[in-house]
Amino acid sequence: MNKQKILVVEDEPAMLNGLKDNLEFEGYEVDTAPEGQEGLNKILNNRYHLVLLDVMLPNISGFDICKKVRQEGIETPIIFLTARGEEIDKVLGLEFGADDYVTKPFSLRELLARIKVIIRRTGNTTTVSNDNFTIIGNLKVNFSNYEAFVQGQAVKMSFKEYEILHYLWQNRNDMVNRHDILDNVWGEDYQPTSRTVDNFIVRLRHKIEDNPSDAKIIITVHGVGYKLVFND
Ligand code: CA
Repeated sequence: MNKQKILVVEDEPAMLNGLKDNLEFEGYEVDTAPEGQEGLNKILNNRYHLVLLDVMLPNISGFDICKKVRQEGIETPIIFLTARGEEIDKVLGLEFGADDYVTKPFSLRELLARIKVIIRRTGNTTTVSNDNFTIIGNLKVNFSNYEAFVQGQAVKMSFKEYEILHYLWQNRNDMVNRHDILDNVWGEDYQPTSRTVDNFIVRLRHKIEDNPSDAKIIITVHGVGYKLVFND
């Protein structure tokens, strides 16, 4: 099988090399550009499955690169790498024709998930076989491909919903406390309050349970956390 080819345009050497190593480890072929003009030339003259494009680059910004690429009619999927606080820029980025963005510092797992989703959406991968699906209540979910269905209809789930459900699934029939969920899904650097976990659980229950207000699958363990009940 041919490797999928990703271009990374990024002026911070540590970030560039880190992404290159990690993406290669994941099986992608990686090309790099340490500055914008070279990045633009490479996008215009090569075929990539996806481009990771830093926004803040010297000389020519990621936005301008994206705009030029789209003006040339090139539809290569682009994910912007933005810095925290560039909220308005994010919106602009999508208007310039990018497919998605991640905010630095981002988790590698989240970036990889988004890359997979976009490459799959743009039709460069073969369809997954059915046995990758796990049935949890009303939900049919593929954790490796970030796909989910309820009664045959694709349902939208956020990355965090997948990750929380996956964690509960790995610990099925065991009690899981909110702090474990926070540590495993958000990591130790940045954590929202445990209330956030509860909100995600509510959303998951709406997809999984027959009656979300009387949960039988993701049950609440009072004062502790949650338990995913699964009978083979
Ligand atoms: Ca930069």
